[in-house]
Amino acid sequence: MTQEAISITKATTKKEKPASDQLVFGRTFTDHMFILDYEEEKGWFDPRIVPYQPISLDPATMVLHYGQTVFEGMKAYLTDQGDVNLFRPEKNMERLNRSNERMCIPSIDEEFALEAIKQLVKVDKDWIPSAPGTSLYIRPFIISTQPYLGVAPSKRYKFMVILSPVGAYYKEGINPIKIAVENEFVRAVKGGTGEAKTAGNYASSLKAQKTVAEKGYAQVLWLDGLEKKYVEEVGSMNVFFKIDGEIVTPELNGSILEGVTRNSVLQLLKYWNIPVSQRKISIEEVYQAYKAGKLEEAFGSGTAAVISPIGQLAWKDETVTINNGKTGEIAKRLYDTLTGIQYGVKEDPFNWIS
Ligand code: PMP
Repeated sequence: MTQEAISITKATTKKEKPASDQLVFGRTFTDHMFILDYEEEKGWFDPRIVPYQPISLDPATMVLHYGQTVFEGMKAYLTDQGDVNLFRPEKNMERLNRSNERMCIPSIDEEFALEAIKQLVKVDKDWIPSAPGTSLYIRPFIISTQPYLGVAPSKRYKFMVILSPVGAYYKEGINPIKIAVENEFVRAVKGGTGEAKTAGNYASSLKAQKTVAEKGYAQVLWLDGLEKKYVEEVGSMNVFFKIDGEIVTPELNGSILEGVTRNSVLQLLKYWNIPVSQRKISIEEVYQAYKAGKLEEAFGSGTAAVISPIGQLAWKDETVTINNGKTGEIAKRLYDTLTGIQYGVKEDPFNWIS
C-alpha cells in the first residue's frame, strides 16, 4: 500500500456554488476530487487531488459489465466555530474494506484513505454549506478498471473520492414517512452481497422503490430473501421498532448492511439504559405488536436522514399508523443527539468526531 505523498493540482477556474436552499442531493460536485490507482504488479499508487473532471474508460472496462465496485457515504459538517467535523469516518473505511473483501477488490490502507479524504475536504472546505442541517456529502468509491470481458476479479482499480454539498434533509422539521412492506422483490439474500456496499444491491432495489413510489409511499420495508418473513431494512436505512418499551432491530445476518448510524444508535441506547435487542423480527410480530397496542415507534437510521420516523406501514391490505403518525420520543432524542454531536453543539461522549 502506498505511503506516497498526495500530490495536489488546484483547479484554475472555480465553479459557482449553489445557494444553500437550492441544494439537491447528489447533483452538484466540488472543484476537486481524489484519485488513487491500483495495478496488480504495483499495488496502490499515485495518490492525487486534481480538478473535478470526467474520467475516460475503455468500453470493455470491467466495472461497466460485471459491477465489481464498492462505495461509501459519509458527511463533513461545519461547526459554528468554522471547524470541519467528520462523524466516525474510520467506521466507513472499515466497512469499505469489508465490502472490498466481499467483492474481491484489494484492500486499501484505511488510515491513508482517511487522510486523503481529510485533505480533499480541506482543499474544498469553502464548499461545505453553513446553513442549519446542511453538510458536505463524501462519496469514496472503487471501480474495477481492467479492460477485459472475462468474469474474474479485475487486475486494475481506481479509488476515487468526490464531494457534493447537500441541503437539510428535513426542511420543515423531522417528518414521519409512509412505508410499503415489499412482498415481491428482495434487496439481498444471505450469502449474497447485501452486507457489502456495492452497486448491484442498489440496482436491484430500484424496481421495488419505483413501484411503491407510484402508489405514494416514500420507501419499501425489505423482508428477508428466503421466506419474506423477517424484517431487514427500510429503503437504504437500517430499521428499528419500539415494542412494549424495548427497541428492537434486526440482527446482522449477512444480507443487512451494517450502518454506522445503526451502530451509533445502539451505543446511545445502551448509554441511556434503554432496553435494546438485536434479533430476528418478523413482519407478523410487528403487526401483532400493533394490534396489541405495543408498537410504540418505528424509524430508519442512515447517514442521509440520520433518523427517519415511520408514520405508516402498509403490508398486503393492512395499513397501520404508528404513534398517530407522529415522531416518537426515542426517534426525536436520537435525532437531536446525533445531529448535535455532528454539528459540535452537543457533548461527544464516545469521541465520534474527528
Ligand atoms: N442500509 C443500506 C442498504 C444503506 O445503503 C445505508 C446507507 N449507507 C444504510 C443501511 C445506513 O448506513 P449508514 O448509517 O452507514 O449511512
